[in-house]
Order: sequence, then C-alpha cells, then structure tokens
Amino acid sequence: MFRLMIHGGAGAIQSPEKYRPSLEKIIKEGRQMLKGGASALDTVEKCVQLLEDDPLFNAGRGSVLTHKKEVECDASIMDGLSLKAGAVAGISGVKNPITLARAIMEKSEFVFLIGKGAKEFAKLHNIKFEPQDYFITEERKNQIKEALENNKVVLDHSDLNNKTNEKKLGTVGAIALDKNGNLASATSTGGIVNKQFGRVGDSPVIGAGTYADNNSCAVSCTGYGEQFLRATVARTASAFVEFQKKDAQSAAKATIKYLQEKVSGLGGLIIIDKNGNMASAYNTPGLLYAKASEKTIEVFV
Ligand code: ASP
Repeated sequence: MFRLMIHGGAGAIQSPEKYRPSLEKIIKEGRQMLKGGASALDTVEKCVQLLEDDPLFNAGRGSVLTHKKEVECDASIMDGLSLKAGAVAGISGVKNPITLARAIMEKSEFVFLIGKGAKEFAKLHNIKFEPQDYFITEERKNQIKEALENNKVVLDHSDLNNKTNEKKLGTVGAIALDKNGNLASATSTGGIVNKQFGRVGDSPVIGAGTYADNNSCAVSCTGYGEQFLRATVARTASAFVEFQKKDAQSAAKATIKYLQEKVSGLGGLIIIDKNGNMASAYNTPGLLYAKASEKTIEVFV
C-alpha cells in the first residue's frame, strides 16, 4: 500500500482551474515514485521541489515578495520513521529550500538553520543557488506594489478589496506513506506578502506547519502562520491520531475546529494516517490539493 497527497495553498482561490495541470502532473510523478518503491521521504522532497520550481505557487520560484521586494523562503521536512527533521527559514537564493531542509536533517546535528548561517551551510553542501531574478515573477511584482500602496501585510493571492477577508494562502506541501509503512511530510513557502523584520511563519516550524510520525500520521499545513504557530496545528493533528485514536478524517476536522476555536485561525491541512486514510480539512473557501493511491488520482481545485 502507498498513499500520497500534495497541496498548493488554501483560501478564496481565483481561477482555481489554472492550478489543476500542475497539481496533476506533480501528483502523477510522485505516485510513480512510490509505485516503484521510493521512500516517503524521497517522494515528498521531490513533489515539493516540483511545486517550488513551478512559478504558480508561493514557494521557491514564484514566492511572494517581502517589504524590501526580496524573496525569503522557509521550508521543513520530517521523517516519520526516525522523527528526524530539518528546517530552514529566511533563506534567499536557494533554488529548492526543501532540499536544503533535508540536507540540514541528514548532514548536520541540528534541526533548524536560519538566514546567513543556513546559506553558509548550503554552500558547504553544494546546494543549488539561483540569482534573485529567477525567483521573482511579474505577478509577484504587481502583488507587492499593491500591498505596499495599501500598506498591508497580506497572504499570497489576497484580494485587498475583499471585504470578507477571504484569502488564498499559497504555501505548498506533500505527505506520503510508502510501501514500507513509513510516513514523511514536507512544507515550503515564500511566507506572506510584504513581510518584514525577518518574519517567519509556521511552515518551517516542526509541529506547527509540518509533522510526521509513523505511530500517527503525516501532516502539512497552509494558513495564517501566526495562528498556526500559536495552535501548533500539525502536532495537534498528530496528537488526535496518536492519543485519541482518531482516523485522518476526524483528526483533520477536529484540528481545524481547534484552530478556529482557540485562535480564530484560518487555513487548511492535509493528513495521511498510519493506516493509509487520507483527508483534508480547511475553513477557507477552498484548498488546492491532490491525492493518489495505487488505483486513483484525484485533483481538487
Ligand atoms: N503558512 C504560511 C506562512 O504563514 C502562509 C501560507 O500558508 O500561505 O508563512
């Protein structure tokens, strides 16, 4: 048995259909890997790399811009077998932040590296770099212009005139259960538009945006980072599975309810439990995601 889920953010998604081909292509590629016996860890890293390379999503190339009109990425990865994890925050110039997160997990004694030091580590380990131009798309330039004019710190694809405060949160993630019963999770983001002062959200924080444990489940989140941090969302979902014996579906639902009730949080998550149940939950109007098993591939936009 194997399972795979990927996501491309939650919110009030404008033109959702434009994301379908990318999600479909990436879930297919990941499914092929798992089918061929690849590990959950390799598969989630690969899927997130592909999402980072795709300028449609707010991660790697196509990331949202900071107040200084730069790209600063955050990413994390976790192995459910060993509970090892790697994370990076405030990194610029690294083509695939998720690969750097994995290198931190496997080639250092640390879990979480940031900024300058993370860059040094990346260079030491021959992680691929790209010039700033590679990351910055025209769409993001317009988005930051609008955000600066309105003096707003906003999430990806937020509609600044939207009175209902419905937003699309563009982080990406992947979770998998491989044929050996191992779970893994990976999450990557450019963060929020117009962020400043080295702001970091939930995505690179183990237990907030990402979690994986073979005894419970794999989880990847997208939403307002500050709220997800305060409600330690990914670990909460895992605790529902581990301690309350919930399956993926009821854990997902319970977690979003908890997020909403505790901190008025907004966003979504994908989850695969150790028995191979797959689920998603969100309290935004939509969530871009796809799921795959031996027999099926489904894309939800
Ligand atoms: N969680 C991300 C952050 O706050 C944003 C997102 O999901 O789009 O950095």
